[in-house]
Amino acid sequence: MSVAEALSIIAVPAFADNYLWLIVRGRMAVAVDPGDAAPIEAALAAHQLTLAAIVLTHHHRDHIGGVNALRSATPERQRIPVYGPRHDPIAAVTVALGQGDRVQLDAIELELEVLDVPGHTAGHIAYFGQTADGPVLFCGDTLFATGCGRIFEGTPTQMLASLDRLAALPPTTAIYCAHEYTLANIHFARAVEPDNLDLQAWETIAVQRRAAGQSTVPTRMGHELRTNPFLRSRSAAVRAAAERRVSGASADAVATFTAIREWKNDFRA
Ligand SMILES: [Zn+2]
Repeated sequence: MSVAEALSIIAVPAFADNYLWLIVRGRMAVAVDPGDAAPIEAALAAHQLTLAAIVLTHHHRDHIGGVNALRSATPERQRIPVYGPRHDPIAAVTVALGQGDRVQLDAIELELEVLDVPGHTAGHIAYFGQTADGPVLFCGDTLFATGCGRIFEGTPTQMLASLDRLAALPPTTAIYCAHEYTLANIHFARAVEPDNLDLQAWETIAVQRRAAGQSTVPTRMGHELRTNPFLRSRSAAVRAAAERRVSGASADAVATFTAIREWKNDFRA
């Protein structure tokens, strides 16, 4: 009887602070947001992996820049599928996706469910899946550990709805976001919620991890609900902080979220 090989998720650091992800089972790998081909090729070679598919969350260069080089590397590679958002402009996408679509990644025996999360870009999507180790989310630049992406193409109303959609996922969901922004995000979150004890404890852990050269990603959704100001627009503390900054910002969740997001845009530690 053969024993099923476990799924693993490998972080591939790229550029200054990106995480590209490889989802691996056995000798097969799926790349998530390969913004640069070289570190992906190095990781594939180091782990003796075959690239079976590419999964994209949005059209920004640091998420798609390696796709063409990866696909043109060998004749076999030219046949691998490139999954991506229907409403973002990405020429390399071979399977266009939107809310409710399901991606069957047969090579690694994983099914991913697509969530529309517009705001950072107009067509940004996220991928949710169930693994033996619990639920996982690949959310690109929408949700970060203790933060969220900038709103480049959407509205605050859209971005808040997108974050609400992610916040409704199981609290055990492991969040594979695309950047190591955590310490700067915590610095801002502490300005919003100086009395949040969960946030204070998280800062201690995150500082230790970074000092040891470790990643702070993934975090889990339950942890984000307790510490991420952008998921806490309905909490009394975040509403009060928004109101102190912008008169009227505690009126509703969108007004609070807008005030907090604009505050972060201007925030210098
Ligand atoms: Zn982006």
